[in-house]
Amino acid sequence: MNDLTGSMDALDNTDRMYFAPLLPWQQALWLQLTKRVLTQQSLPHALLAAGMQGMGKRAFVWRLVAWLLCRERSTNPLGACSACESCQWLKSGTHPSLQVLPLVSMPVSAESDSLKEKPSSSAKDKKSSKAASHSALKIKIDDIRALQPFIYQGGQGMRICVLDHAEKMTIAAANALLKTLEEPQAQVHLFLISDTPAQLLPTIKSRVQQLALQTIEPTVAVDYVTYALGHTINREAVAKTAIEQLIQLANGAPLAAIAMAQAPWYSKRALWLTTWQALRSGKRSSVAASDYWQNQLGIKEFIQLSELMLLDIRRVCLGLDELQKDVNLSTILASYQPTDSGLEAFANSMQQTKVALQQNVQEKFAYDKLMQELACL
Ligand SMILES: [Zn+2]
Repeated sequence: MNDLTGSMDALDNTDRMYFAPLLPWQQALWLQLTKRVLTQQSLPHALLAAGMQGMGKRAFVWRLVAWLLCRERSTNPLGACSACESCQWLKSGTHPSLQVLPLVSMPVSAESDSLKEKPSSSAKDKKSSKAASHSALKIKIDDIRALQPFIYQGGQGMRICVLDHAEKMTIAAANALLKTLEEPQAQVHLFLISDTPAQLLPTIKSRVQQLALQTIEPTVAVDYVTYALGHTINREAVAKTAIEQLIQLANGAPLAAIAMAQAPWYSKRALWLTTWQALRSGKRSSVAASDYWQNQLGIKEFIQLSELMLLDIRRVCLGLDELQKDVNLSTILASYQPTDSGLEAFANSMQQTKVALQQNVQEKFAYDKLMQELACL
């Protein structure tokens, strides 16, 4: 039973990754790259998809990888056919012309947008993904060396390597990769993906061509988020404001905005303010607040919520407008504003809680402590 569920999950995942519709703000780039391939001009040997999460860079790369490998690509310029032998291999996670690093797939976390996940290709992947945490991910020199036979084997047909979270390469791994970047092989393409490209070695960055994936017209973003969240096209002004707010809170990243809207904590922002007020005025004890919130949200979600609220409180304290217009933040802050040191202390205690949670501190204990700190904000 488990196996069946697992394989169905994987199938659903690969469909979302390799064969998902093209995101609207990526159309021009898609046309530009696919046209080059279809007119027999080669693509750059190494491409980098870089920038913050939620812009759809992984969605673009996986989609392009599927199309480049697709046997029917000349008759399907808009995306892989999903039926040919190559597409079938992708679906089963056994494509002989695709190598992906790091070897473990990312665990699904609340912070991640669903489109960024690497499709889990085997039972082994699934097992190891549970053990792997984001911070522990590393691409080591042996991983890069293990790619060499694949890259230099020659022969017919395109071969593709994807290095996701490329910033997780050790220095030795990056230096090993440099050699590969300096000796482009015919028919071999490397895709590097990074949420934090500033952490990539400059020598690597100078040898890869960056994909222009970071510019999104505000109206395109609003339309897409509206569509994805199931609003009607003739939306009311109120709904549009809510969407614009979401996009602003997500720093302009549409997929991050959608994930935020769907996160359970997003609808609890007004409640957070109520709790803060009740704690501060002494109407509610921190223990009672902790008990209450433990039934509302997991501690990690509560921290995400608190971080967003803190960001906006900070803005108002600095004399800027609040980003959230749909909760009564400005009214509350008109009568009371936390001090800089209070804001600092609460931010620090959230950081400490995150670290403590990685060391398996009990959720109840962490919640109790955080509520005590919130009462002092
Ligand atoms: Zn195909």
